[in-house]
Amino acid sequence: MRGFWFLLVLVSVARSERLFTGDQVIRIDAQSEEQIKLLQILESEEKWNLDFWRHPVSTELPVDVRVPRSHLGAMKEYLHAHSIPFTVMIDDVQELLDQEKAEMRENLIRERNTRNFNFAAYHPLETIYSWMDTLVAQHPNLVTKLEIGRSYENRPMYVLKFSTGGTNRPAIWMDLGIHSREWVSQATGVWTANKIATDYGTDASLTSVLNTMDIYMLIVANPDGYVFSHTNDRMWRKTRSPNSGSLCVGVDPNRNWDAGFGGPGSSSSPCSDAYSGPFAHSEIEVKNIVNLVQSHGNFKSFISVHAYSQLLMYPYGYTCKSAADQAELDYVGRAAVQKLTSLYGTTYKVGNICNIIYQASGGSIDWSYDVGIKYSFAFELRDTGWYGFILPADQIIPTASETWLALKHIMEYVRDHPY
Ligand SMILES: [Zn+2]
Repeated sequence: MRGFWFLLVLVSVARSERLFTGDQVIRIDAQSEEQIKLLQILESEEKWNLDFWRHPVSTELPVDVRVPRSHLGAMKEYLHAHSIPFTVMIDDVQELLDQEKAEMRENLIRERNTRNFNFAAYHPLETIYSWMDTLVAQHPNLVTKLEIGRSYENRPMYVLKFSTGGTNRPAIWMDLGIHSREWVSQATGVWTANKIATDYGTDASLTSVLNTMDIYMLIVANPDGYVFSHTNDRMWRKTRSPNSGSLCVGVDPNRNWDAGFGGPGSSSSPCSDAYSGPFAHSEIEVKNIVNLVQSHGNFKSFISVHAYSQLLMYPYGYTCKSAADQAELDYVGRAAVQKLTSLYGTTYKVGNICNIIYQASGGSIDWSYDVGIKYSFAFELRDTGWYGFILPADQIIPTASETWLALKHIMEYVRDHPY
């Protein structure tokens, strides 16, 4: 009987949360196109079970990959055999995750006792959602909460709308956390929404933006994935919709847009983390955004926030051809990054997606640009791989603060360049 209970406990633990004990994140510095090809072969072979945090595309950017403990030996042997240099970035992924979890638990108790929301902590979805109600209650003349639809698992998708009046004013769109494991993105969204609400009326520049334009923020663009990344698998990136004919769940919601859909840099395999889905806008989360943006019809800027790598990008991703507005977007992006860097010296690269990372099809800002929203940008926030997706919570406020300077620059530019 005791054995039975022990087994039951084991099974329930195994069911509730995926462990990454002994997994390492290694950084590979490929020296040649040939070595990149070898890494691409590894990536295509699902039996290796590798989780590429940065994909092998060129020798210019390092490749970061989480290797399960079970494959570490073979992987390192493979790299040695082909003389491909690598270093260990994260020695034990689970150790970092345990630390993160412990901090969240402590914070939860502190927040309960003080009844104060801590912007320097990661929060589960329900805490973010109830915080939104607090923000609306504190700033009823500026902030409203709109439900733009429901996720696949029927969770509401909430947009915070900042508006000082008028009807259908020109507007700025921001979505965060479309890839659920990029937690600093959602956390930056929370801090930024609070910043906009509290600085309106005191920050002259932001005030003038809000006196002519509205700001829409979707802080948790992939709520199902976000919940799953808290309860079951911290490394979850995709949506949670089932795929017919496959046991693998989910679609990459940033390969699902109607912009070069299904092209290079997306996968047709449901088990891939870059799976484009069966057709464009198949994911209800994407469709809800598309519907809102199209029915509004007056967005002038569309900004998607990801992590990590410290990049500010503009279209295109599905093609390496320059966008018609490339020169202007580059100019705006560089100035925005200069502001960002001025705070803590954090360095960013600026460029179009295809040149700066890799060709990637079906992305959100390519779609927004092609439907006529000129000032389309995507951020990849901190860091450059020391922690990757497991960025410590004490970096949330510094990350959000520096990013705000870039965001504000883009907003001011959009305000001053109506089209
Ligand atoms: Zn992402």
